[in-house]
Amino acid sequence: MDEMECEKSMPNKNTKMMQRDLEVIWHPCTQMKDHETLPVVPIKSAKGVYLYDFEGHSYIDAISSWWVNLFGHANTSINDKIKEQLDTLEHVLLAGFTHEPAVELAHKLVNITAKELKKVFYVDNGSSAVEAALKMSYHYHLNQGKCKPIFLSLTNSYHGETIGALSVGDVALYKETYKPLLIGNKQVPVPIDQSPQAAKEALIFLEHILKEQSDEIAALIIEPLVQGAGGMHMYHSDYIVGARKLTRHYNVHLIADEIMTGFGRTGKMFACDYTNISPDFMTLSKGLTGGYLPLSVVMTTDNVYNAFYCNYNEHKAFLHSHSYTGNPLACAAALATLALFEDSDVLGENAKKSQYIKERVEKFSILEQVKEVRQQGMITAIELKGFKSEDRIGLDVYTYALSQGVLLRPLGHIIYFMPPYIISYEEIDKMIDVAYEGILKLS
Ligand code: PMP
Repeated sequence: MDEMECEKSMPNKNTKMMQRDLEVIWHPCTQMKDHETLPVVPIKSAKGVYLYDFEGHSYIDAISSWWVNLFGHANTSINDKIKEQLDTLEHVLLAGFTHEPAVELAHKLVNITAKELKKVFYVDNGSSAVEAALKMSYHYHLNQGKCKPIFLSLTNSYHGETIGALSVGDVALYKETYKPLLIGNKQVPVPIDQSPQAAKEALIFLEHILKEQSDEIAALIIEPLVQGAGGMHMYHSDYIVGARKLTRHYNVHLIADEIMTGFGRTGKMFACDYTNISPDFMTLSKGLTGGYLPLSVVMTTDNVYNAFYCNYNEHKAFLHSHSYTGNPLACAAALATLALFEDSDVLGENAKKSQYIKERVEKFSILEQVKEVRQQGMITAIELKGFKSEDRIGLDVYTYALSQGVLLRPLGHIIYFMPPYIISYEEIDKMIDVAYEGILKLS
Protein backbone atom coordinates (compact mmCIF):
# COMPACT_ATOMS: atom_id res chain seq x y z
CA MET A 1 0.00 0.00 0.00
CA ASP A 2 1.54 3.33 -1.00
CA GLU A 3 1.36 6.37 1.31
CA MET A 4 -1.69 7.89 -0.39
CA GLU A 5 -3.71 4.67 -0.30
CA CYS A 6 -2.76 4.18 3.31
CA GLU A 7 -4.00 7.67 4.19
CA LYS A 8 -7.28 7.08 2.35
CA SER A 9 -8.04 3.90 4.27
CA MET A 10 -7.36 5.54 7.65
CA PRO A 11 -10.42 6.90 9.39
CA ASN A 12 -10.34 10.70 9.51
CA LYS A 13 -10.24 12.54 12.83
CA ASN A 14 -14.01 13.10 12.88
CA THR A 15 -14.69 9.41 12.33
CA LYS A 16 -12.20 8.36 14.99
CA MET A 17 -13.73 10.73 17.52
CA MET A 18 -17.23 9.53 16.65
CA GLN A 19 -16.20 5.89 17.08
CA ARG A 20 -14.62 6.56 20.45
CA ASP A 21 -17.70 8.53 21.48
CA LEU A 22 -20.13 5.75 20.59
CA GLU A 23 -18.14 3.22 22.59
CA VAL A 24 -18.97 5.00 25.84
CA ILE A 25 -21.38 7.95 25.57
CA TRP A 26 -25.17 7.71 25.86
CA HIS A 27 -26.38 10.99 24.35
CA PRO A 28 -29.27 13.10 25.66
CA CYS A 29 -32.62 13.16 23.90
CA THR A 30 -31.42 10.57 21.39
CA GLN A 31 -32.38 7.12 20.11
CA MET A 32 -28.80 5.86 20.05
CA LYS A 33 -29.54 3.39 17.22
CA ASP A 34 -30.01 6.41 14.92
CA HIS A 35 -26.25 6.81 15.08
CA GLU A 36 -25.78 3.62 13.07
CA THR A 37 -26.59 5.82 10.08
CA LEU A 38 -26.52 9.39 11.40
CA PRO A 39 -23.04 10.57 12.37
CA VAL A 40 -22.39 12.25 15.70
CA VAL A 41 -20.71 15.56 14.86
CA PRO A 42 -17.49 15.97 16.85
CA ILE A 43 -16.78 19.62 17.57
CA LYS A 44 -13.19 20.61 18.13
CA SER A 45 -13.57 24.31 18.67
CA ALA A 46 -15.93 27.24 18.22
CA LYS A 47 -15.75 30.97 17.62
CA GLY A 48 -18.57 33.46 17.21
CA VAL A 49 -21.54 31.74 15.57
CA TYR A 50 -19.31 28.98 14.13
CA LEU A 51 -18.68 25.45 15.39
CA TYR A 52 -15.67 23.66 13.86
CA ASP A 53 -15.20 19.90 13.55
CA PHE A 54 -11.88 18.02 13.52
CA GLU A 55 -11.62 18.20 9.73
CA GLY A 56 -12.05 21.96 9.54
CA HIS A 57 -15.73 22.02 8.48
CA SER A 58 -17.71 24.87 9.99
CA TYR A 59 -21.37 25.03 11.07
CA ILE A 60 -23.41 28.15 11.88
CA ASP A 61 -24.93 27.49 15.30
CA ALA A 62 -28.44 28.66 14.33
CA ILE A 63 -30.01 27.27 17.51
CA SER A 64 -27.45 28.72 19.94
CA SER A 65 -26.52 25.22 21.17
CA TRP A 66 -29.94 24.44 22.66
CA TRP A 67 -30.87 28.11 23.11
CA VAL A 68 -28.11 29.03 25.53
CA ASN A 69 -25.57 31.07 23.60
CA LEU A 70 -26.13 34.82 23.32
CA PHE A 71 -22.85 36.51 22.37
CA GLY A 72 -21.13 33.80 20.39
CA HIS A 73 -18.72 31.04 21.26
CA ALA A 74 -15.32 31.89 22.76
CA ASN A 75 -16.43 35.45 23.39
CA THR A 76 -13.32 37.34 24.48
CA SER A 77 -14.82 39.32 27.32
CA ILE A 78 -16.66 36.34 28.84
CA ASN A 79 -13.55 34.17 28.44
CA ASP A 80 -11.40 36.79 30.20
CA LYS A 81 -13.77 37.11 33.13
CA ILE A 82 -13.94 33.33 33.63
CA LYS A 83 -10.14 33.01 33.43
CA GLU A 84 -9.74 35.76 36.01
CA GLN A 85 -12.26 34.04 38.29
CA LEU A 86 -10.55 30.69 37.82
CA ASP A 87 -7.37 31.98 39.40
CA THR A 88 -9.30 33.57 42.29
CA LEU A 89 -11.95 31.11 43.43
CA GLU A 90 -13.24 28.15 41.43
CA HIS A 91 -15.92 26.95 43.83
CA VAL A 92 -17.13 27.13 47.38
CA LEU A 93 -20.33 25.85 48.95
CA LEU A 94 -23.08 28.47 49.27
CA ALA A 95 -24.55 27.24 52.57
CA GLY A 96 -23.01 29.31 55.34
CA PHE A 97 -20.51 30.84 52.85
CA THR A 98 -20.73 33.36 50.08
CA HIS A 99 -18.56 34.92 47.37
CA GLU A 100 -18.39 38.13 45.39
CA PRO A 101 -19.68 36.91 41.99
CA ALA A 102 -22.82 35.38 43.59
CA VAL A 103 -23.51 38.54 45.58
CA GLU A 104 -22.94 40.95 42.67
CA LEU A 105 -24.95 38.82 40.25
CA ALA A 106 -27.91 38.53 42.64
CA HIS A 107 -27.99 42.33 43.06
CA LYS A 108 -27.91 42.84 39.31
CA LEU A 109 -30.70 40.32 38.74
CA VAL A 110 -32.88 41.99 41.36
CA ASN A 111 -32.24 45.35 39.63
CA ILE A 112 -33.20 44.21 36.14
CA THR A 113 -36.22 41.99 36.83
CA ALA A 114 -39.81 42.82 37.84
CA LYS A 115 -40.10 45.06 40.86
CA GLU A 116 -41.46 42.53 43.36
CA LEU A 117 -38.66 40.01 42.72
CA LYS A 118 -36.23 40.72 45.55
CA LYS A 119 -34.58 37.44 46.47
CA VAL A 120 -32.39 35.10 44.44
CA PHE A 121 -32.13 31.36 45.13
CA TYR A 122 -29.26 29.79 43.18
CA VAL A 123 -29.62 26.42 41.48
CA ASP A 124 -27.55 24.90 38.68
CA ASN A 125 -29.71 24.00 35.67
CA GLY A 126 -33.11 24.84 34.24
CA SER A 127 -35.06 21.77 35.38
CA SER A 128 -33.69 22.08 38.91
CA ALA A 129 -34.77 25.72 39.03
CA VAL A 130 -38.31 24.70 38.06
CA GLU A 131 -38.17 21.90 40.63
CA ALA A 132 -37.08 24.36 43.35
CA ALA A 133 -39.77 26.90 42.38
CA LEU A 134 -42.50 24.22 42.59
CA LYS A 135 -41.25 23.04 45.98
CA MET A 136 -40.98 26.61 47.25
CA SER A 137 -44.52 27.42 46.16
CA TYR A 138 -45.98 24.28 47.76
CA HIS A 139 -43.92 24.84 50.92
CA TYR A 140 -44.98 28.51 51.13
CA HIS A 141 -48.64 27.52 51.31
CA LEU A 142 -47.83 24.79 53.82
CA ASN A 143 -46.02 27.32 56.00
CA GLN A 144 -49.25 29.35 55.87
CA GLY A 145 -51.20 26.31 57.07
CA LYS A 146 -52.60 25.22 53.68
CA CYS A 147 -51.84 22.01 51.80
CA LYS A 148 -52.06 22.68 48.07
CA PRO A 149 -50.56 19.71 46.23
CA ILE A 150 -51.64 20.53 42.65
CA PHE A 151 -49.87 22.65 40.05
CA LEU A 152 -51.47 24.21 37.02
CA SER A 153 -49.69 24.54 33.71
CA LEU A 154 -50.54 25.25 30.09
CA THR A 155 -51.23 22.68 27.42
CA ASN A 156 -48.20 22.20 25.15
CA SER A 157 -45.83 23.46 27.85
CA TYR A 158 -42.28 22.34 28.60
CA HIS A 159 -40.43 22.98 31.85
CA GLY A 160 -37.68 20.35 31.97
CA GLU A 161 -37.00 16.67 32.50
CA THR A 162 -36.80 16.04 36.24
CA ILE A 163 -39.93 14.49 37.75
CA GLY A 164 -41.53 17.71 39.04
CA ALA A 165 -40.64 19.70 35.93
CA LEU A 166 -41.84 16.89 33.67
CA SER A 167 -45.13 16.75 35.60
CA VAL A 168 -45.98 20.35 34.74
CA GLY A 169 -44.93 19.88 31.11
CA ASP A 170 -47.25 18.66 28.36
CA VAL A 171 -45.09 17.34 25.53
CA ALA A 172 -46.18 13.69 25.27
CA LEU A 173 -42.92 12.60 23.63
CA TYR A 174 -41.05 13.29 26.88
CA LYS A 175 -43.83 12.84 29.45
CA GLU A 176 -46.02 9.88 28.49
CA THR A 177 -43.65 7.06 29.57
CA TYR A 178 -43.21 8.45 33.06
CA LYS A 179 -46.86 9.25 33.82
CA PRO A 180 -47.17 6.87 36.82
CA LEU A 181 -44.25 8.66 38.48
CA LEU A 182 -45.53 12.22 38.15
CA ILE A 183 -46.88 14.69 40.72
CA GLY A 184 -50.31 16.38 40.80
CA ASN A 185 -50.78 18.55 37.76
CA LYS A 186 -53.68 19.99 35.77
CA GLN A 187 -53.51 21.68 32.43
CA VAL A 188 -55.41 24.68 31.15
CA PRO A 189 -55.44 25.61 27.45
CA VAL A 190 -52.68 27.83 26.11
CA PRO A 191 -54.02 30.61 23.81
CA ILE A 192 -54.26 29.09 20.35
CA ASP A 193 -52.41 31.91 18.60
CA GLN A 194 -50.86 35.36 19.07
CA SER A 195 -54.15 37.30 18.98
CA PRO A 196 -55.61 39.14 22.00
CA GLN A 197 -58.87 37.26 21.37
CA ALA A 198 -57.17 33.88 21.85
CA ALA A 199 -55.68 35.15 25.12
CA LYS A 200 -59.10 36.23 26.29
CA GLU A 201 -60.65 32.86 25.47
CA ALA A 202 -57.90 30.90 27.26
CA LEU A 203 -58.32 33.06 30.38
CA ILE A 204 -61.93 31.90 30.66
CA PHE A 205 -60.71 28.32 31.22
CA LEU A 206 -58.17 29.52 33.76
CA GLU A 207 -60.77 31.43 35.72
CA HIS A 208 -63.07 28.43 35.70
CA ILE A 209 -60.54 26.02 37.23
CA LEU A 210 -59.31 28.57 39.76
CA LYS A 211 -62.87 29.21 40.88
CA GLU A 212 -63.43 25.47 41.37
CA GLN A 213 -60.11 24.30 42.76
CA SER A 214 -57.90 27.14 43.96
CA ASP A 215 -57.88 25.63 47.47
CA GLU A 216 -55.78 22.76 46.14
CA ILE A 217 -53.67 24.63 43.59
CA ALA A 218 -50.29 26.01 44.68
CA ALA A 219 -49.21 27.73 41.46
CA LEU A 220 -49.70 28.28 37.77
CA ILE A 221 -46.47 27.90 35.81
CA ILE A 222 -46.12 29.42 32.33
CA GLU A 223 -43.50 29.98 29.65
CA PRO A 224 -44.34 33.64 28.98
CA LEU A 225 -45.04 34.51 25.31
CA VAL A 226 -43.23 31.54 23.71
CA GLN A 227 -43.47 27.82 24.46
CA GLY A 228 -40.09 26.53 23.34
CA ALA A 229 -40.01 22.74 23.20
CA GLY A 230 -43.74 22.76 22.42
CA GLY A 231 -42.79 23.88 18.90
CA MET A 232 -42.15 27.63 19.44
CA HIS A 233 -45.86 28.22 20.00
CA MET A 234 -46.48 31.94 20.62
CA TYR A 235 -49.24 33.83 22.39
CA HIS A 236 -50.22 37.36 23.35
CA SER A 237 -48.97 39.12 26.50
CA ASP A 238 -52.61 39.84 27.49
CA TYR A 239 -52.68 36.27 28.72
CA ILE A 240 -49.85 36.95 31.18
CA VAL A 241 -51.62 40.06 32.48
CA GLY A 242 -54.91 38.21 32.88
CA ALA A 243 -53.26 35.18 34.49
CA ARG A 244 -51.53 37.45 37.01
CA LYS A 245 -54.81 39.12 37.94
CA LEU A 246 -56.62 35.81 38.37
CA THR A 247 -53.86 34.01 40.28
CA ARG A 248 -53.56 36.92 42.70
CA HIS A 249 -57.29 36.97 43.24
CA TYR A 250 -57.40 33.24 44.00
CA ASN A 251 -54.23 33.11 46.14
CA VAL A 252 -52.36 30.96 43.64
CA HIS A 253 -48.73 31.71 42.75
CA LEU A 254 -47.64 32.65 39.25
CA ILE A 255 -44.32 31.10 38.17
CA ALA A 256 -42.81 32.70 35.06
CA ASP A 257 -40.41 30.17 33.56
CA GLU A 258 -38.12 32.48 31.55
CA ILE A 259 -35.40 29.86 31.17
CA MET A 260 -35.69 30.07 27.39
CA THR A 261 -37.31 33.51 26.96
CA GLY A 262 -35.03 35.44 29.33
CA PHE A 263 -32.13 37.75 28.46
CA GLY A 264 -33.45 39.40 25.33
CA ARG A 265 -34.64 36.37 23.39
CA THR A 266 -38.18 37.65 22.86
CA GLY A 267 -37.13 41.23 22.07
CA LYS A 268 -37.23 42.67 25.60
CA MET A 269 -34.90 41.66 28.40
CA PHE A 270 -37.59 39.36 29.81
CA ALA A 271 -40.86 38.25 28.22
CA CYS A 272 -42.67 39.54 31.33
CA ASP A 273 -41.39 43.02 30.40
CA TYR A 274 -44.08 43.14 27.70
CA THR A 275 -46.42 43.67 30.66
CA ASN A 276 -45.96 45.49 33.94
CA ILE A 277 -46.75 42.44 36.09
CA SER A 278 -44.54 40.83 38.71
CA PRO A 279 -44.75 37.05 39.02
CA ASP A 280 -44.26 35.37 42.42
CA PHE A 281 -41.39 33.32 41.01
CA MET A 282 -39.20 33.65 37.97
CA THR A 283 -36.85 30.89 36.82
CA LEU A 284 -33.79 31.81 34.74
CA SER A 285 -30.99 29.74 33.20
CA LYS A 286 -29.68 29.14 29.62
CA GLY A 287 -28.66 32.67 28.47
CA LEU A 288 -27.88 33.66 32.06
CA THR A 289 -24.23 32.64 31.61
CA GLY A 290 -24.13 33.57 27.92
CA GLY A 291 -24.32 29.84 27.24
CA TYR A 292 -21.05 29.03 28.98
CA LEU A 293 -21.72 27.20 32.22
CA PRO A 294 -24.63 25.55 34.03
CA LEU A 295 -26.32 27.99 36.37
CA SER A 296 -29.91 28.88 37.19
CA VAL A 297 -31.86 30.94 39.67
CA VAL A 298 -35.30 31.08 41.20
CA MET A 299 -36.20 34.67 41.92
CA THR A 300 -39.00 35.41 44.33
CA THR A 301 -40.68 38.06 46.45
CA ASP A 302 -40.11 39.25 50.01
CA ASN A 303 -43.53 37.86 50.81
CA VAL A 304 -42.49 34.32 49.86
CA TYR A 305 -39.08 34.69 51.52
CA ASN A 306 -40.63 35.92 54.77
CA ALA A 307 -42.94 32.91 54.98
CA PHE A 308 -39.85 30.74 55.52
CA TYR A 309 -38.08 33.15 57.89
CA CYS A 310 -38.39 32.06 61.53
CA ASN A 311 -36.58 30.12 64.26
CA TYR A 312 -35.02 26.86 63.06
CA ASN A 313 -37.14 24.66 65.35
CA GLU A 314 -40.33 25.95 63.72
CA HIS A 315 -39.30 23.74 60.74
CA LYS A 316 -40.17 26.18 58.01
CA ALA A 317 -36.78 26.55 56.32
CA PHE A 318 -36.31 25.71 52.63
CA LEU A 319 -33.65 23.00 52.90
CA HIS A 320 -33.22 22.45 49.16
CA SER A 321 -29.62 22.42 47.87
CA HIS A 322 -27.29 21.34 45.07
CA SER A 323 -23.52 20.91 45.41
CA TYR A 324 -22.72 23.35 42.59
CA THR A 325 -25.32 25.96 43.59
CA GLY A 326 -24.06 29.45 42.66
CA ASN A 327 -20.74 28.26 41.24
CA PRO A 328 -18.34 31.26 41.07
CA LEU A 329 -17.12 30.54 37.53
CA ALA A 330 -20.70 30.40 36.28
CA CYS A 331 -21.59 33.58 38.20
CA ALA A 332 -18.55 35.32 36.67
CA ALA A 333 -19.73 34.26 33.19
CA ALA A 334 -23.19 35.65 34.03
CA LEU A 335 -21.72 38.96 35.19
CA ALA A 336 -19.68 39.23 31.98
CA THR A 337 -22.85 38.47 29.99
CA LEU A 338 -24.84 41.18 31.77
CA ALA A 339 -21.95 43.61 31.22
CA LEU A 340 -22.32 43.04 27.47
CA PHE A 341 -25.98 44.10 27.72
CA GLU A 342 -24.90 47.20 29.67
CA ASP A 343 -22.09 48.15 27.26
CA SER A 344 -24.09 48.30 24.04
CA ASP A 345 -27.63 48.49 22.75
CA VAL A 346 -28.06 44.73 22.33
CA LEU A 347 -31.87 44.84 22.30
CA GLY A 348 -31.87 47.67 19.74
CA GLU A 349 -29.52 45.76 17.43
CA ASN A 350 -31.59 42.60 17.91
CA ALA A 351 -34.73 44.49 16.92
CA LYS A 352 -33.08 45.39 13.59
CA LYS A 353 -31.94 41.81 13.05
CA SER A 354 -35.40 40.38 13.88
CA GLN A 355 -36.96 42.80 11.39
CA TYR A 356 -34.46 41.67 8.76
CA ILE A 357 -35.19 37.99 9.53
CA LYS A 358 -38.92 38.74 9.35
CA GLU A 359 -38.56 40.21 5.85
CA ARG A 360 -36.30 37.37 4.69
CA VAL A 361 -38.66 34.61 5.88
CA GLU A 362 -41.70 36.04 4.14
CA LYS A 363 -40.88 33.84 1.15
CA PHE A 364 -41.57 30.73 3.26
CA SER A 365 -45.23 31.67 3.77
CA ILE A 366 -46.12 31.08 0.14
CA LEU A 367 -44.66 27.57 0.04
CA GLU A 368 -47.29 24.86 -0.09
CA GLN A 369 -45.45 22.93 2.65
CA VAL A 370 -45.74 25.84 5.11
CA LYS A 371 -48.65 26.25 7.51
CA GLU A 372 -47.45 29.31 9.41
CA VAL A 373 -44.44 31.55 9.95
CA ARG A 374 -44.26 33.22 13.36
CA GLN A 375 -41.78 35.38 15.17
CA GLN A 376 -41.16 36.86 18.58
CA GLY A 377 -37.93 38.83 18.82
CA MET A 378 -34.94 36.61 18.04
CA ILE A 379 -37.09 33.48 17.73
CA THR A 380 -38.52 32.65 14.31
CA ALA A 381 -40.48 29.47 13.59
CA ILE A 382 -41.74 27.92 10.38
CA GLU A 383 -44.47 25.36 10.89
CA LEU A 384 -44.78 22.82 8.09
CA LYS A 385 -47.90 20.95 7.07
CA GLY A 386 -48.81 17.75 5.30
CA PHE A 387 -46.31 15.45 7.02
CA LYS A 388 -46.82 12.63 9.51
CA SER A 389 -44.62 12.35 12.61
CA GLU A 390 -43.09 9.08 11.35
CA ASP A 391 -41.81 11.01 8.31
CA ARG A 392 -39.19 12.56 10.61
CA ILE A 393 -38.90 15.56 8.32
CA GLY A 394 -37.09 17.44 11.07
CA LEU A 395 -34.28 14.93 10.72
CA ASP A 396 -34.18 15.41 6.92
CA VAL A 397 -33.90 19.19 7.30
CA TYR A 398 -31.27 18.77 10.03
CA THR A 399 -29.16 16.45 7.85
CA TYR A 400 -29.42 18.68 4.81
CA ALA A 401 -28.61 21.86 6.74
CA LEU A 402 -25.60 20.20 8.34
CA SER A 403 -24.27 19.22 4.91
CA GLN A 404 -24.50 22.92 4.00
CA GLY A 405 -22.73 24.14 7.15
CA VAL A 406 -25.71 25.17 9.28
CA LEU A 407 -26.83 23.61 12.55
CA LEU A 408 -30.64 23.54 12.63
CA ARG A 409 -32.39 21.10 14.95
CA PRO A 410 -36.10 21.24 14.13
CA LEU A 411 -38.76 20.30 16.67
CA GLY A 412 -40.73 17.71 14.68
CA HIS A 413 -42.32 19.65 11.84
CA ILE A 414 -41.28 23.07 13.21
CA ILE A 415 -38.11 24.56 11.72
CA TYR A 416 -36.85 27.43 13.81
CA PHE A 417 -34.02 29.96 14.06
CA MET A 418 -32.68 31.04 17.42
CA PRO A 419 -29.17 32.26 16.61
CA PRO A 420 -26.63 33.96 18.89
CA TYR A 421 -27.25 37.72 18.89
CA ILE A 422 -23.88 38.44 17.27
CA ILE A 423 -24.89 36.69 14.03
CA SER A 424 -24.11 38.90 11.00
CA TYR A 425 -26.59 39.77 8.27
CA GLU A 426 -24.65 37.61 5.84
CA GLU A 427 -24.82 34.65 8.21
CA ILE A 428 -28.57 35.25 8.66
CA ASP A 429 -28.92 35.01 4.87
CA LYS A 430 -27.07 31.71 4.79
CA MET A 431 -29.09 30.27 7.69
CA ILE A 432 -32.38 31.18 6.02
CA ASP A 433 -31.39 30.11 2.50
CA VAL A 434 -30.25 26.70 3.71
CA ALA A 435 -33.51 26.15 5.65
CA TYR A 436 -35.47 27.18 2.55
CA GLU A 437 -33.58 24.72 0.33
CA GLY A 438 -34.01 22.04 3.01
CA ILE A 439 -37.79 22.52 3.00
CA LEU A 440 -37.98 22.49 -0.79
CA LYS A 441 -36.12 19.18 -0.84
CA LEU A 442 -38.79 17.57 1.38
CA SER A 443 -41.45 17.41 -1.31
N1 PMP B 1 -37.88 25.48 31.09
C1 PMP B 1 -37.86 25.86 29.81
C2 PMP B 1 -38.85 26.89 29.34
C3 PMP B 1 -36.94 25.31 28.93
O1 PMP B 1 -36.96 25.70 27.64
C4 PMP B 1 -36.02 24.35 29.40
C5 PMP B 1 -34.96 23.72 28.50
N2 PMP B 1 -35.22 23.64 27.19
C6 PMP B 1 -36.06 23.99 30.75
C7 PMP B 1 -37.01 24.58 31.57
C8 PMP B 1 -35.12 22.97 31.33
O2 PMP B 1 -33.83 23.46 31.38
P1 PMP B 1 -32.58 22.45 31.44
O3 PMP B 1 -32.51 21.81 30.09
O4 PMP B 1 -31.41 23.31 31.73
O5 PMP B 1 -32.86 21.46 32.51
